[in-house]
Amino acid sequence: MQTRIIDGAALARRLRSELRDRAAELTARGYQPGLVAVRVGEDPASKVYVRTKMKASAEVGLHSEHVELPAATTETTLLERIAGFNRDPRIHGILVQLPLPPQISADNVLRAIAPEKDVDGFHPYNVGLLATGRPRFVPCTPAGVMAMLAAEEIALEGREAVVIGRSNIVGKPMAMLLLQKGATVTMCHSKTRDLAVHTSRADVLVAAVGRPNTVREEMIKPGAVVVDVGINRLPDGKLVGDVAFESALGKASHITPVPGGVGPMTVTMLMANTVLAAQLASESVS
Ligand code: NAD
Repeated sequence: MQTRIIDGAALARRLRSELRDRAAELTARGYQPGLVAVRVGEDPASKVYVRTKMKASAEVGLHSEHVELPAATTETTLLERIAGFNRDPRIHGILVQLPLPPQISADNVLRAIAPEKDVDGFHPYNVGLLATGRPRFVPCTPAGVMAMLAAEEIALEGREAVVIGRSNIVGKPMAMLLLQKGATVTMCHSKTRDLAVHTSRADVLVAAVGRPNTVREEMIKPGAVVVDVGINRLPDGKLVGDVAFESALGKASHITPVPGGVGPMTVTMLMANTVLAAQLASESVS
């Protein structure tokens, strides 16, 4: 079987160009979508992520602000800054880059973001909307995966979907979204006894673990759609996903590469959520 490699970077470029048009329209009506990214401390990966998000914001034509706070910042100070952005009409999306230093509770911080500016979709209110089938801001990575599956016209209704990983950021919302499309969803995690029993039934298999070679060729059902969310850096500096990519070629019908698969879509969905937030803000006034 010829495996189709899903080009997330190309789809991301296409979607960003559409978002650019929507952002320009909102800007012309006085609602330029605005995004603030807050980073606390010196985590090198966080710096790279925020830089990528700021670059994408500029590409789409958003107003963007980048706040860098020292590692010793107190929770109170951070909450005050968030309260300020909650009131700021130029800002429609607030993103606090995780992880936060140990003196700050991520839970408290994420709850402090106004739900209508929660473009990461992590506030319990938005999590609740998603769980009850009325999603508004959907976490960016699973939203990006769904956009890829839709662009490839992959049918989900009645099919077996298996998600490996149960984090609040990827695995759980991913399962909810697949469920809403009518898939029969199985969630696997670190306590799952025999991963291969589950994965080998999957028509659609999503791996979000953070461990190379978690999914090997013999665990994939012939013709399955394999989505690799994992990002792992090997000792030689090479970036790989959770799936043994080469071995899956010829077995899967579709696969997402790492890099160039889910990653660019995640950032694009952040842009989409910010444009949506600005649009909702404009509608609540008009
Ligand atoms: P996490 O550490 O919060 O969750 C990992 C999950 O994997 C856990 O639920 C755990 O139960 C499960 N797990 C661990 N070992 C397992 C095993 N042996 N078998 C089955 N399940 C196992 O991580 P996360 O934030 O959900 O991210 C997962 C991966 O996705 C990471 O590599 C991360 O870097 C990557 N990621 C990529 C993007 C992107 O844009 N491509 C975005 C977010 C996260």
